[in-house]
Amino acid sequence: MTAKAGDRVKVIADNDIKEGILMPNEETDSVVIKLDNGYNVGIDKKKVKEIKVVEKYKEKEESTGKKPKKDSKKPTIAILHTGGTIASKVDYETGGVIAKFSPSELMELFPELKKIANFDSRLIDQMLSEDMRFEHYKKIANAIKKEIQKKVDGIIITHGTDTLGYTAAALSFILENIDIPVLLVGAQRSSDRGSSDAAMNLVCASEFITKTDFVGVAICMHESTGDNSCAILPATKTRKLHTSRRDAFKPVNDTIIARIDYDTRKIEFLKKDYPKPNGKLVVKDKFEDKVGIIKCHPNMFCDQFDFFKGYKGLVIEGTGLGHAPVDPPNKLHVNIMDSIKSLIKSGTIVAMASQCLFGETHPHVYTAAINLSKAGVVYCKDMLPETAFVKLAWLLGNYKKDDVKKLMAENLRGEINERLMKDEFLD
Ligand code: GLU
Repeated sequence: MTAKAGDRVKVIADNDIKEGILMPNEETDSVVIKLDNGYNVGIDKKKVKEIKVVEKYKEKEESTGKKPKKDSKKPTIAILHTGGTIASKVDYETGGVIAKFSPSELMELFPELKKIANFDSRLIDQMLSEDMRFEHYKKIANAIKKEIQKKVDGIIITHGTDTLGYTAAALSFILENIDIPVLLVGAQRSSDRGSSDAAMNLVCASEFITKTDFVGVAICMHESTGDNSCAILPATKTRKLHTSRRDAFKPVNDTIIARIDYDTRKIEFLKKDYPKPNGKLVVKDKFEDKVGIIKCHPNMFCDQFDFFKGYKGLVIEGTGLGHAPVDPPNKLHVNIMDSIKSLIKSGTIVAMASQCLFGETHPHVYTAAINLSKAGVVYCKDMLPETAFVKLAWLLGNYKKDDVKKLMAENLRGEINERLMKDEFLD
C-alpha cells in the first residue's frame, strides 16, 4: 500500500525507524513525519528503505452540517467536487488534505460566492487528477445528469488541473445536447494560500453561469497572471500549457469563448458559435479501455508500436504535419510501417494528431503521411492529441467500428476547427 499524506506510517531508514503522521512535502528531499510529541522530523529520502502504512488517514468530519439559507430570487449552481487543490486545505495537525466541499464550508472558504447564487454541493471524489480513469468520467457525467434533473441553473466541477482538459473533452462527448452550463474549474495554488487563484476562478465561473445563456461544457480559469480576468475556454480545444502559472490553460487552434472582467464583472463574448443543444439530453458514457497514445521521436523501434497489439485504438502523436518514422531505406523504419499496418489489419483504429499542437495534420504533403494515410491511419486535422485519445476511446465505446473511423475525422463537439486560420497562434 503506498503511503499518502495523513497516513500513520513507520519510516524505515538506514539506521533508524520512526513512526508518525506522514506530512505533505513535495518540495524537499526529505520524508517529513509528525511525531506523537507534535514535532515534525525530516528523514533524507535517499536513506529511506521503506514506508509502511500503519493506519490509513481518516477524514475529519468538519462540516457544521448547517446549510446556508437559500435566496429564492437567485439561481442555483451545483458544485461537484472531484479533487485537486481547488476546494481542499491541508490539515497541518494531521498532514491530511481535507476536501472543503459542503455548501457551508465552500461559503466559508469563498464568502463572495454568496452574493452570486445559491449553491448545492457534493463530493464525487477526492483525487489527484492524474489518477483519473474512464470510470471517473462516467461517475461525473451521471452526477451531472442528476443535477440537471433537479433543475439547477448551472454546474461547476472542481477538478485538479493536470488532466482537467481531458475530463472537459470527455464530458463534452458524453453529454449530448446538454442545455445548461457545466464549467470545469481548477486552481494552480491551493485555497489556503494567500496567492490562490481558486476564489477568483470560482467567482468568475459563477458570474458567467448566472449572467449568460451559454450552454455546454467549458473550462473557467485565469486569463492572465494578474487578477484581472478569467477566460471561458473551449472544452475540447484547451491545454494546460504551463506547470505552475495561473494562466496555464490556453486554447489551441481556437479562441477563448468569453472573458469575465473580475473588477466590473462584465462578460465579453469572443465567440458565439459554441455548440448548442439539438434535442433531449443523451448520456453516452461508455469508453473502450484498450486505447493508447504514442509520441513519435527520433530513434524509434517497431516494438514500441507492437506493444499496442490487441488495443482497439491508438493515437499517434506524430511530428509536424502528422509523420512517423516509416520511410525507407532505413530497415528499422520499414519495420515500423509494417507494425502500424499489422495493427490496422488486426483491427486497431490508428489515428494521427500532431505534437506541434498548433496547425493541422496533413496526409497529402510528404510521403510518410501519404503512406500512413493509405495504410488506413485516420488524420485528425487540428484536434489536440489528448482530445483525439478521449474521443477515440469514447467512439469505440459507443459506436459501431465502421462508424468510428468516419466520426473520428468529423467535428462533433468543436474538437475540429473547420475555419482554422494560419495566424491563430500564440497571440
Ligand atoms: N496533480 C494535481 C492534480 O491535477 C495537482 C493539484 C491541482 O492542480 O489541483 O490533481
